[in-house]
Amino acid sequence: MDRYAVFGHPVGHSKSPQIHAAFAAQTGQSLSYEAIDAPPNGFAAALRGFVDQGGRGCNVTVPFKDEAYRLADRCDALARQAQAANTLRVEPGGRLAGFNTDGVGLLRDLTQNLGLALAGRRVLLVGAGGAAAGIVGPLLAAGIAELVIVNRTPQRAGDLARRFAAHGPVRASALQAPGSGFDLVLNATAAGLDGRAPDLPVAVFSPETVAYDLVYGPAAGPFLALARQAGAGACHDGLGMLVEQAAEAFWLWRGVRPATAPVIAALRGV
Ligand code: NAP
Repeated sequence: MDRYAVFGHPVGHSKSPQIHAAFAAQTGQSLSYEAIDAPPNGFAAALRGFVDQGGRGCNVTVPFKDEAYRLADRCDALARQAQAANTLRVEPGGRLAGFNTDGVGLLRDLTQNLGLALAGRRVLLVGAGGAAAGIVGPLLAAGIAELVIVNRTPQRAGDLARRFAAHGPVRASALQAPGSGFDLVLNATAAGLDGRAPDLPVAVFSPETVAYDLVYGPAAGPFLALARQAGAGACHDGLGMLVEQAAEAFWLWRGVRPATAPVIAALRGV
C-alpha cells in the first residue's frame, strides 16, 4: 500500500487524513494517509525518515511550508511564486518535487463550487503569510481588476505586493483604510484561531461583497460574523478550499481526479 502523510505542528486537528481516505475509497486507489506531528526543528529529519521508509508523497502545513519549498529538489511555478510548498511528491531516487495547491484549491472553490466569476472583480486580501503568498499569483492570473493586500504587520503586505507587481494590478494598503466596495474579501489570517477578527473597517463590505475565510469551522466565525454584521451579501468558510487543494495534491500523486462535492458535503455533515 502506498504511503502518504500530512506534516505539521500541531497537526492532530487536520482533516486531511479523512479527506484522502475518502478520495482513495471513491477512486479505488490503494494507499494509506497519516498525520505526522514533526517537532519545530525536526521537519527535515522526519521527512527524510518518511521517504527512506517508502513514503510516496505528503502534504505540508503550518509551520513547514517554507522549509518544504527549500527542501524540494525542484518546484512548480506556483510554489516558486509563493516560495512555499504544501505538497511534495517523491520521485525516483528519493528526489522531492514541490507544489503549491492552495491557490488552485481556492480558485476552484470560488469559481466551480460557489459560482463566482473573478474576472474584473476588486479583491481585498487580508493577511500576508504563507497562505496569502500561495493565492496572490492565481488570483491575478484569473484576471481580477484589482488586488489590495492588507496585514497586521504592514511591511509584509508591502513586500508581498512588490513580489507580485509584475503579475498584475496589486498594491498594499493600511489595514484600517483599505478602501471600500470590494467584490470579494478574503481573510487569509490566523486571527480566527485566537477567536478574533482582523481589525477591518466595515466599509470594505457591501451587499455585493462575498466574504470568504480561508479558515474553516468555528475559527471562521469571528471574521464571518464581522462581515455579516457589516452587510456582506454572502459568507463562506474555507472547507471547500481545503478539499479542493487536497484533490489537486491527490491528482499530482495518483494521476486521478476525485469528485470533491460528496467529500465537502460529508465533512459538513449534510
Ligand atoms: P502564517 O504564514 O502564519 O500567516 C499568518 C497570517 O495571519 C499573517 O498575515 C499574520 O499577520 C496574520 N495574523 C495572525 N494572527 C493575527 C491576528 N490576531 N490579527 C490579525 N492578523 C493576524 O499562516 P498561513 O499559512 O498564511 O495560514 C493562515 C490561515 O489560513 C491559517 O489559519 C490556515 O489554517 C489557513 N489556511 C487554510 C487553507 C485551506 O485549505 N482552507 C489553506 C492554507 C491556509 P502578521 O504578519 O502581522 O503576523
